[in-house]
Amino acid sequence: MKKYSLNRIDTHTHTYYSFDCAENGNSPDKMCEAAIQKGLAAIILTDHIEINSVAERLYPPLYHSARKRECLEAKEKYKGKLDVYVGIELGQITHYPGLAEEIVGEQGFDYVIGSVHNTKGEPDPYYLDFTKIPLDRAIYMLDKYFDEYLQMTEIPYVDQCAHLTYPIRYMKKAGMPIDVSRWNGMIKQILESEIKHGKTYELNTVYVRKGIDLPEDGILKMYKSLGGRKIRLGSDAHYTEHVASGFDTACDMINEIYKGE
Ligand SMILES: [Zn+2]
Ligand SMILES: [Zn+2]
Repeated sequence: MKKYSLNRIDTHTHTYYSFDCAENGNSPDKMCEAAIQKGLAAIILTDHIEINSVAERLYPPLYHSARKRECLEAKEKYKGKLDVYVGIELGQITHYPGLAEEIVGEQGFDYVIGSVHNTKGEPDPYYLDFTKIPLDRAIYMLDKYFDEYLQMTEIPYVDQCAHLTYPIRYMKKAGMPIDVSRWNGMIKQILESEIKHGKTYELNTVYVRKGIDLPEDGILKMYKSLGGRKIRLGSDAHYTEHVASGFDTACDMINEIYKGE
């Protein structure tokens, strides 16, 4: 993939091929159009495949061939105006690594984002009301989460490690006093592994959109001190209006940490 300046590529976006916006999401074409309107040079379309859900049939499958055809049509249509990449967001890879490898091998995506949305035996925090969950349980969930996330950073075909602070966004939204620095030991191991394995660190900007402070400041300072220089932004847009949202705030944070370089 070409080099792009930080605010000109949205690496994490969803179309109506993702199960969580299948009914009111937008086509690949519309997402690309929105990216051009926002002044982007490139977009990566990263619809969900939750590996555990494929194996356990929890959600409807991703319709690969129809999706690929629409993405490739958009790629062709916007040539010269916008670089379009056919990516994927693979969740819970480590639950069924053989199946994940098979899917990636068959589909040949341009770019693979690795995510942990739920840990083994636990629900996706997206579905939980953390105002009704004790703090100890949230801490236990995060212990498990960072553990699985670390394993995910070692998967060879993963290009980018997504939203490291994913469960925390739901906990913070519910007003839980979560201090990310509690997991600094685990986070250090994760960042070291990402650097060692050449992964891109994704700064996910959903927080900005939801009006929650980005909890990444300390994490990014640690990443920098470990020699980390591979950061990209992902809006996690599920609708056109969210493409590249929060990028200004995220860029300011990164530029402040990396100033003078
Ligand atoms: Zn995700
Ligand atoms: Zn996503």
